[in-house]
Amino acid sequence: MTGNNMSSVYLDHNATTALDSQVLEAMLPWMKAQAGNPTSRHVFGRTARTAIEHARAQVAEACGAYPSQVIFTASGTEANNFAVKGITANQAATQILYSAIEHPCVSRPAISLGQYGFKSQAISVNGQGELDAAHLAALLEKPSNLVSVMLANNETGVIQGIPGIAEQVKRSGASMHTDAVQALGKIPLSFTDLNVHAMTISSHKIHGPQGAAALVLDKRVDIQPLLHGGGQEKGLRSGTENIAAIVGFGVACELAVANLNSFASHTRALREQFEQGLKALDVTIFSNEVARIPNTSFFAVNGIEGETLVMALDRKGFAVASGSACSSDSTEPSHVLLAMGVNQDLARGAVRISFGGHNTVQQVSNFLDTLKNEISRLKQLTGIAA
Ligand code: PLP
Repeated sequence: MTGNNMSSVYLDHNATTALDSQVLEAMLPWMKAQAGNPTSRHVFGRTARTAIEHARAQVAEACGAYPSQVIFTASGTEANNFAVKGITANQAATQILYSAIEHPCVSRPAISLGQYGFKSQAISVNGQGELDAAHLAALLEKPSNLVSVMLANNETGVIQGIPGIAEQVKRSGASMHTDAVQALGKIPLSFTDLNVHAMTISSHKIHGPQGAAALVLDKRVDIQPLLHGGGQEKGLRSGTENIAAIVGFGVACELAVANLNSFASHTRALREQFEQGLKALDVTIFSNEVARIPNTSFFAVNGIEGETLVMALDRKGFAVASGSACSSDSTEPSHVLLAMGVNQDLARGAVRISFGGHNTVQQVSNFLDTLKNEISRLKQLTGIAA
């Protein structure tokens, strides 16, 4: 592998994951040999089409949907933009609601639609990061086009009660989308049971390749195409398919389903070990009183910048994230923590650990030792009493 420090321990699986070797094996023929264009009628084209439809069935199976509901995109960001812009495109502009803790690839497209007269409004969350149902109910008293609430948050890991929220939204006549990018492979996922109109998933969070993701869509949803052209993906997302990435996504989904229970119990045990160890240190663990995806722990040390701690830990061989890893060029405190009412100073200290199936008990205990040393070293440097 190039570009990676092999001696470092990777604890940032919510940002991205390594390609599984079985996924790579399945992808290689599509990159090495002559592949056909899936729209071509000859044998090369038909073979490519079959591979894509097989992957579509694997993806559908992993998220409790029908293959006909899966629209492939190139990223979760693209699928979220597609949902927000495509679903609202044919509607008379009213308002678009999104939870205050959404990934920017949901909130920013919603805000951008202000230019076409759509109002956008964030729905509050409580101190643990759960959606404020009363605030949603109050907002839904006005006509709304779309509500988007993520199934699992990328920073805190908090899982929302989507079926109940979807029911509330559907009763109001609005469309309901959920971003399930951080849920796939970590908790059981069923598009049908979630009862939403649209759902986003992404391949590179589950040991699949970058360049493949999907918007899962209820057929009754009136959505405008994202890309016009040759009519691929039911005319909703034209463009020659990225066959290797889609094939890899399919295999990654199959593996994620097969490994779900072991992943959940293994990473939950590592997190318990980790958070037990954190208790000896003077830290705040966020959202630990509510349901979370099993692999995620988000905490802060008062008085120490998260960025500083992340860099110190990196030098000691541990790769972790501060605030939101998806917008790590930003030095603003986490918008998720601010929405939860955490004060700016503590929010600036936030550090996220996201375990993967290959992390070990030994790594967690080494990490705790290093964390303890780095915290006391940084506290001495900054003059905070250790
Ligand atoms: N939604 C959530 C919750 C995420 O965590 C991410 C990426 O980190 C995305 C969407 C964007 O997905 P992608 O990286 O496939 O564009």
